[in-house]
Formats: sequence, structure tokens, C-alpha cells
Amino acid sequence: MTNKSFPSGLSVTRAKKKAKSFSKEWEIPLHKAQDKIAMEHIGVPWHKAIELLNKPPSNCLDCPLHQVLPDPDPDDWFNDDDCASVCTRTKNELQDNMAKWFIRRSDFRPITVSARPYQVRKESESPDWCPLKDKE
Ligand code: SF4
Repeated sequence: MTNKSFPSGLSVTRAKKKAKSFSKEWEIPLHKAQDKIAMEHIGVPWHKAIELLNKPPSNCLDCPLHQVLPDPDPDDWFNDDDCASVCTRTKNELQDNMAKWFIRRSDFRPITVSARPYQVRKESESPDWCPLKDKE
């Protein structure tokens, strides 16, 4: 567990030290300081963050850091209910506010796009670039 890092790059070891120091400085219980750091760096409380870092979900739909968004085909009303799943902890490098496709305008990196609603889970296996996975 010692070499694990939050998606922000902060190592768990460093986060523990920071929490201890904040706990003393702010005179708050250690678990509250840990929760504050985890919320800031991964968006979930400490115990959930450690659980996710220890065992990243194999499917993004089982991860609290995903979102499912509408992704209708602008050229085909037949696919008006298409969906996309995105990772809220990863920036969309192709983000373009002028893009025709909704998902290209999203700030979050897509996991799957243009998926039929009943296919979203099947197409949302955790990608290699998942920020919860160990970096080489
Ligand atoms: S890519 Fe990783 S962090 Fe992002 S939603 Fe999927 S499992 Fe969660």
C-alpha cells in the first residue's frame, strides 16, 4: 500500500503525514483530517479512497468516480438515447466547447461513447489509463 498514490499524484504515505500534521494544527481528530485530504484529492472519504486504491474496480460503473452522460447522435434521432460513461478524475484531452458531439464538450475523459443504454456497463471496463491503477 505504501507506493500507492491518489489520482492527483499525492502518495498515500505523504497523505498520512499531511493528515497527522493537519490534525495537530487544526486540533481535529485524525480521521477528519484524513477525510478532508481524501475528499480534496479523490472526492470520496478516506476509507473509501483506500479501498479504491487497494482494489480498483474492474468496471467503471462500480466506481464512485464515474458518471453516465447522455451522448445523442446529432445526425440520427434514432440514437437519441445513446450514452457515454466518463471518468470524473481524468481530464478530457480532446475537450472542445464547439464540438458537435456532446461528449467532446465534456471536461471528463470518456470511457465509452455512443453506447446504447443497455450496453454501457459492458463497454465500461476499467481502462489501462485508470488513475487508480499503479503507474509503472
Ligand atoms: S477510470 Fe478508474 S477512476 Fe475513472 S471511473 Fe473508471 S475505475 Fe474509476
